[in-house]
Amino acid sequence: MKVCKFGGTSMANAECIKRVADIVSNDDAVSCVVVSAPGKRAKNDTKVTDLLYACLDKVNDGLSPEEAFKPIEDRFDSILKGLGLKTDFKVYYDEIKNELKKGATKDYIASRGEFLSAIVLSEYLNWPFIDAKDFVRFDDKGNFLSEETNAYAKAVLHGVKKAIIPGFYGATGDGTIKTFSRGGSDISGAIVARALYADIYENWTDVDGFMKCDPRIVDNPEVMELITYKELRELSYMGANVLHPDSIFPVRKNDIPIHIRNTFNPSAKGTMIVSSKKFFSGAYERKESTVTGIAGKKHFISINIEKSMMNNELGFARKVLEVIEKNGLGIEHMPSGIDTLSVVIDGSNHDEEALGRIVEGIKKVCQPDTIDLERNLALIAVVGHGMSRKKGTAQKVCNSLYEADVNIRMIDQGSSELNIIIGVENKDYEKAISALYKEFLS
Ligand code: ASP
Repeated sequence: MKVCKFGGTSMANAECIKRVADIVSNDDAVSCVVVSAPGKRAKNDTKVTDLLYACLDKVNDGLSPEEAFKPIEDRFDSILKGLGLKTDFKVYYDEIKNELKKGATKDYIASRGEFLSAIVLSEYLNWPFIDAKDFVRFDDKGNFLSEETNAYAKAVLHGVKKAIIPGFYGATGDGTIKTFSRGGSDISGAIVARALYADIYENWTDVDGFMKCDPRIVDNPEVMELITYKELRELSYMGANVLHPDSIFPVRKNDIPIHIRNTFNPSAKGTMIVSSKKFFSGAYERKESTVTGIAGKKHFISINIEKSMMNNELGFARKVLEVIEKNGLGIEHMPSGIDTLSVVIDGSNHDEEALGRIVEGIKKVCQPDTIDLERNLALIAVVGHGMSRKKGTAQKVCNSLYEADVNIRMIDQGSSELNIIIGVENKDYEKAISALYKEFLS
């Protein structure tokens, strides 16, 4: 039995939705289907979720809910027309506009794209609609409650043979709508797959699978046929964004493989994501290679701290981390030397004032000899189970970057030997990725 999730491009217009309907109705194994809000129909188009965020902004700027909500109504009306559906959506539109008048929250408004999208597919296929707010649970701060969700999901979905479920959102105990971060419908699909003990979670998107490297940097990288959850976690955390990085956790609990498939090329093999290092799974296999994939992100900031005899000072790292924690910033990596400690944080969306407070806090509590911030740092992950206990991977990484005239600012290898993280200057990022791809994957 399968649980399927279809992303925004697969739900973008009536033609795409017809494809989705064909895929799920021609496969008896498909049980529940989770959908995203309609995405972009063309490169310069706007996703419905973005239209909804913009709608709320406009209402807050004084535009009437009728006018602000019009682009979304138009979008769904054209889908209904294209599908030949006579369903009256006015009741849903009116309810949303009413909430806008009453001061709707951002999460509520954003969630309506998935809500309406699921109603459309449920009407078109004549499959029941089940609302995600009835089982996906968040706490009042918006933190996802995984075990509570699983218990509710099992109860709500018990005995359900076929259903259409909106992705991306759930609710708190009192029914207040909360959303995951962007792309979160992938997590919703995984939650449903876990609760139903699905044999497989098919995640349908608009690419043939996970590429070994960013196609914007190297030409036509190959698609990975088989990859483990752990490898995927490293790669997607580092920016390979076919799948939301958090969608792995629910399915991992029940050992359910995720199959990435292309709605617009259903005969492509896709990428199979499995739990362990078995490098085959039915028709899927992979050659034993050192490196599976390469991914990276720019705009990290490293807080570099130096103090003589740091290694002898009990609790030094704890004090540093406490200051950072108190100021609400998360930590990405922590490479260290005998008298040096660096803490790398994500600089793409950071709070500059908090960063200032952290520097002052560390100066006060730890009295370092020096402390400085290094900005414009890009991190690249070279990922693969194959490097474990094999000599020479780090040497090849360093050599290829040396040959490409890239200076390595930081190097960090996790204890699992699953990946090597390299820090380079933002300006060297593309050059470094290309060199590493050439060395390991081409
Ligand atoms: N519609 C939401 C977004 O655009 C969630 C999703 O598609 O997964 O991020």
